[in-house]
Amino acid sequence: QAKEKGRGRYEIFNQQMHTQALKLLTLETDLRHGIEKEEFEVYYQPIMTLNPIALVGFEALIRWQHPHKGFISPGEFIPVAENTGLIIPIGKIVLEKVCYQLQTWKKNHPHTTVLKVAVNLSSQQFNNPDLVEEIDEILEKTGLNSNNLKIEITETSLIEHSLETIKLLKELKQRNLEICLDDFGTGYSSLSYLHRFPVDTLKIDRSFVNCIGQPDENLEIIQSIIPLAHNLGMTVVAEGIETEEQLIYLQQLHCDFGQGYFFNRPLPPTEAEKLLETN
Ligand code: C2E
Ligand code: MG
Ligand code: MG
Ligand code: MG
Repeated sequence: QAKEKGRGRYEIFNQQMHTQALKLLTLETDLRHGIEKEEFEVYYQPIMTLNPIALVGFEALIRWQHPHKGFISPGEFIPVAENTGLIIPIGKIVLEKVCYQLQTWKKNHPHTTVLKVAVNLSSQQFNNPDLVEEIDEILEKTGLNSNNLKIEITETSLIEHSLETIKLLKELKQRNLEICLDDFGTGYSSLSYLHRFPVDTLKIDRSFVNCIGQPDENLEIIQSIIPLAHNLGMTVVAEGIETEEQLIYLQQLHCDFGQGYFFNRPLPPTEAEKLLETN
């Protein structure tokens, strides 16, 4: 009887694996198609200084409107893009769109102070030996000043290949690009070796910000990260600020920047541009 049950399970497992594999394969085909048909857009989520509250820049977040399946979230398709190498062309599309967009905004709003846009880079993009050259080409083609651009890499990808990554980050820094360590706190990296990486900003992961207002040991982590980052000459962004209580708490801890639904959701370019007019 146990054997019967075992076999039954095996078949279900197998079928689920089959369905899952088929789904991934379809997604991969759809992604290739999406690249060809230019189905990707970039949305912009405002990043604010916390004291006083003012717009300083945006995080660029990719959006995919599938012609039949509707909106597919990056959480779903970015991992597939990473596993299939498609993140390379997709990453290039994002970077190009952002640089052109920034140039347009700077032209339309010459009096806005330095506007920074942070672009997410996957660890697979680091492994691309042409990355720096591609960035150079895009900057040259669009004429954008490199200090308008910030690169976000996750803490995990930093740890994965630390030596090559340090080399790459230094090359980016030589070009005046700022580096932000994304999702900080989720990757088990030791705070004590942070100083080895040429990082300008730590972005505290949303899961920590979420804990504000509850009795939670994660609060101690936020409390210690902020002064530590400052001592290392880094600034701190808190991601996922959703309530006023979270904002006030972070202000009291002297957190420099924040982003989250409390301020704005990621916005389409036209909506984001309206914020430049009022700033
Ligand atoms: P991330 O870089 O950590 O981006 C922040 C995510 O948190 C975004 O999700 C954003 O919409 C969401 N978010 C911001 N504020 C709040 C808030 O107050 N509450 C909640 N619940 N969520 C908030 P999104 O746009 O779905 O992106 C998910 C992830 O996909 C990103 O996480 C990033 O890792 C990846 N991703 C997005 N765009 C790109 C891209 O162009 N290239 C690469 N390589 N990865 C990207
Ligand atoms: Mg990010
Ligand atoms: Mg993040
Ligand atoms: Mg995140």
